[in-house]
Amino acid sequence: MQKGLVEVYTGDGKGKTTSAFGLVLRALGRGKKVIIFQFIKSSSFPSGEVIALRMAFPEVEIIQGGSGRFINTKPTEDDIALAKILYEKILSAVSSGRYDIVVVDEVFPAYNVGLITLKDILDLIEKKAENTELVLTGRGAPEEVIRLSHLVTEMKEIKHPFRDGIKARIGIEY
Ligand code: ATP
Ligand code: MG
Repeated sequence: MQKGLVEVYTGDGKGKTTSAFGLVLRALGRGKKVIIFQFIKSSSFPSGEVIALRMAFPEVEIIQGGSGRFINTKPTEDDIALAKILYEKILSAVSSGRYDIVVVDEVFPAYNVGLITLKDILDLIEKKAENTELVLTGRGAPEEVIRLSHLVTEMKEIKHPFRDGIKARIGIEY
């Protein structure tokens, strides 16, 4: 049995979510069992990578827990309740030993806006099954998570077209 590690893709530059999906693609090519969770994002507005994966690999579970509304100030009770339901599913998947890879996309923004706690994230790491690779993404990874992880990559923004007023493009940004 291959030992699973904890990976973090963080930072303010582009490429965290797409890296996680790139890793998923590689794993699926090797017959690995994968499950993907996404905080904040909603199933009503799937991004291109989710649509593609569903077409090519219908067996892959992709579970979104966001309401689809933008959380710009404090999350509502409903937002927190939705996040809690998603979190319980993640904890169950990551500790079950049934998956080679568990991706938790946008987990750090979920923490930073107050949808989940730091302890919630630390519990995922602590209760992770031995064989499972846990991939955590999103800007603003807390120090303690970085300390406990085996692989940490920071996407650093050097340039982004958004700054020149170029809006998000279909098939590139989403
Ligand atoms: P991607 O989904 O392209 O891999 P990401 O996961 O690193 O990007 P997020 O912080 O999750 O980026 O941002 C979500 C959205 O914002 C994506 O559509 C992404 O392309 C875009 N984005 C990423 N980095 C920046 C940036 N520095 N400035 C503006 N928009 C960005
Ligand atoms: Mg992202």
